[in-house]
Amino acid sequence: MTKPTPFYLSTVILALSGTAVFLLKPGYNTNGINTEIFSWLTALFLLWVILSVCGVAFLSMGWFVPVFSRGSKRSKIVALSFDDGPHPETTPRLLTILETHKVKAAFFVTGSKAEKYPEIIRAIHAKGHLIGNHSYSHSWRNNLLSPRSLHTEIASCQNILAGITGEKPAWYRPPVGLTNPRLLPVLRSLGLRVYGWSIRTGDGVSVNWQRVEKRILKKVRGGDIILFHDGRSRGRSGTIGKETHTNADFFSVIENCIIALQKRGFALEVEGKTTQDKTSVPPGL
Ligand SMILES: [Zn+2]
Repeated sequence: MTKPTPFYLSTVILALSGTAVFLLKPGYNTNGINTEIFSWLTALFLLWVILSVCGVAFLSMGWFVPVFSRGSKRSKIVALSFDDGPHPETTPRLLTILETHKVKAAFFVTGSKAEKYPEIIRAIHAKGHLIGNHSYSHSWRNNLLSPRSLHTEIASCQNILAGITGEKPAWYRPPVGLTNPRLLPVLRSLGLRVYGWSIRTGDGVSVNWQRVEKRILKKVRGGDIILFHDGRSRGRSGTIGKETHTNADFFSVIENCIIALQKRGFALEVEGKTTQDKTSVPPGL
């Protein structure tokens, strides 16, 4: 049996508490409602609203869907992941760097870009990296879609990737990390699980690549999943503000991080590569 999500559990608890108060009317007297119990119920409801809003914004909470956001802290494995590609310049250069240093990484690609650059998807696949579903169009509006439209958005990316590589991805990373209660049934129907991250590099907004590198190397621990981007979700593909991911500094950061982490004894691999791989993925996912 699958474990209920915190959102589901908290909703049931809240509904049962409200029903119990309504039916049993504890403390009711001729003066009317018991204000103490009413205050507790209101506080409980507000807490549920706050947690649900945070659950939408913070993927690692796993509020609406179980999320694999890091491996064991005791492991000597760190995973590099790249979102929003493939990009015609950035991704091939990254693949060369990864191959040089014998690194396996994860690429969460969009269906629309995969359709445009199938040869890059084939190259990622041929090198043995993980290819994950990052939706078809990568719109923040995905989080407002009806279950049917959400299914179409994710399923079309699955089908495009399967058509190119012959394999359906096992993992999904929601665009901008946004989730909602409609997502879980869609993912279950497509056999997908959510792959999160534990270190956000800020490479999508920062123009200071040295700071990005320092922050990663200061924060990183065993089992971490590091989030980079090899493309941009909107606008001119590959551009990040005034900077671009075709900038030599970006590739230096990646290479320096790889060298530093390997010196610390970490293997740069991707855990939980398939849905069958349960080695480091927590139960319930
Ligand atoms: Zn993205």
